[in-house]
Amino acid sequence: MRTAEVAGVGEFCGQEVLLKGWVYNIRSSGKILFILVRDGTGTIQCIVEKASAGGELFDAASGLQQESSIEIRGTVSEDSRAPGGYELQVTGLDVIQIAEDYPITPKEHGMNFLMDHRHLWLRSSRQHAILKIRAGLIRFIREFFDNRGFICVDTPIFTPSACEGTTTLFETDYFGDKAYLTQSGQLYNEANAAAFRKVYCFGPTFRAEKSKTRRHLIEFWMVEPEVAFAELDDIIQLGEDFIVEIVGRSLESYRDLLTDVLERDLAPLERVQPPFPRISYNDAADILKKRETGFVHGGDFGGTDETVLSEGYDRPFFVHRFPAAIKAFYMQPDPEDESLTLSVDLLAPEGYGEIIGGGQRIHDLELLKRRVGEHGLPEKAFEWYLDLRRYGTFPHSGFGLGLERTLAYICGIKHIRETIPYPRLLNRLSP
Ligand code: ATP
Ligand code: MG
Repeated sequence: MRTAEVAGVGEFCGQEVLLKGWVYNIRSSGKILFILVRDGTGTIQCIVEKASAGGELFDAASGLQQESSIEIRGTVSEDSRAPGGYELQVTGLDVIQIAEDYPITPKEHGMNFLMDHRHLWLRSSRQHAILKIRAGLIRFIREFFDNRGFICVDTPIFTPSACEGTTTLFETDYFGDKAYLTQSGQLYNEANAAAFRKVYCFGPTFRAEKSKTRRHLIEFWMVEPEVAFAELDDIIQLGEDFIVEIVGRSLESYRDLLTDVLERDLAPLERVQPPFPRISYNDAADILKKRETGFVHGGDFGGTDETVLSEGYDRPFFVHRFPAAIKAFYMQPDPEDESLTLSVDLLAPEGYGEIIGGGQRIHDLELLKRRVGEHGLPEKAFEWYLDLRRYGTFPHSGFGLGLERTLAYICGIKHIRETIPYPRLLNRLSP
């Protein structure tokens, strides 16, 4: 007998197959048992009829409980009403283990309880759908860059210094020296761009942010492209092309999961078409002043400010030219107004907030040295970074996109904690 996976069971219509999986749900209507079996690739309804299956098989099947592990045999038939489109008429069953009292039942559970049982919660259809889309999104992101001639160059996780000061860095002991967990691969990306022209890194980053918001994780994944000879407008264009493609491919590949499992309204995603609006920080500040959000001109946007701004647009939009005072030391000044920088954020609609942050980097050696000093950073630690301005300096730009925020937006999930298999939050380090 052929061993099959639920996802490919359609190839075996009319034949008997062996499936291995877990009992997702079981209900009976007297002489018929309906066992919903999941095997990680999908779920299939398995039907045991007492009359045809015989008493022994029927009794064994009746004793199954949620999440029991089984090997089940039966004949595949097509049924358009069944979830997945196929059913199994059961002819045999071997129980690997009866799962007693599985903690997550179809009834409502509190978020803390579910998070404590994250290692089990991953089996539920909603979490399964989110993480499946996450895997697809990672692929779409990589393919976007790979197909455009970008080279993936990995940047280190242990770093000797910070990009933007040490307040949000995790410090660790590195054989007696201090090391920090990376919060961005950008500085290394700049070196890599000089070697490969168009590069990206994609990996975990760490921020010791004491903020407890629905948009912040302590450990999150970021993809960061960096492009030699690109200026601010070039990188904005790249960001637009990038978002259009990854949102479009997610819609194309996961339409069913998005609508059926996650109940995502697809209309806002369908509208993710170029061109995206581009507004300046100063214009955004004027909008916020009228709306009395408590925003102070010159400061960074808070979550509420971002939500208010996004109400004005039906698709993602760029905000560019933030004040130098609130941006990192390496941001290129705006030639038209030196108090501003050639920086850009992309804000997602529907209140999802910033998903991209980036801009053009300073390529002038003297200016960059001055900035390192003004930001109170140790020049010695940045010597290698200054070398990039000593030996063939070049204008260049890049950005970082947070994978989980983008996934939350695509899936229409309110809180970022469900977008990563094992979230690290202010109050959570387990499981
Ligand atoms: P915010 O102001 O929202 O805290 P940021 O400006 O500090 O974000 P950047 O340093 O610009 O963020 O990082 C680039 C991208 O990484 C952001 O646009 C966002 O998508 C993502 N990101 C940043 N911090 C977090 C976090 N704590 N959790 C999840 N994603 C994050
Ligand atoms: Mg930012």
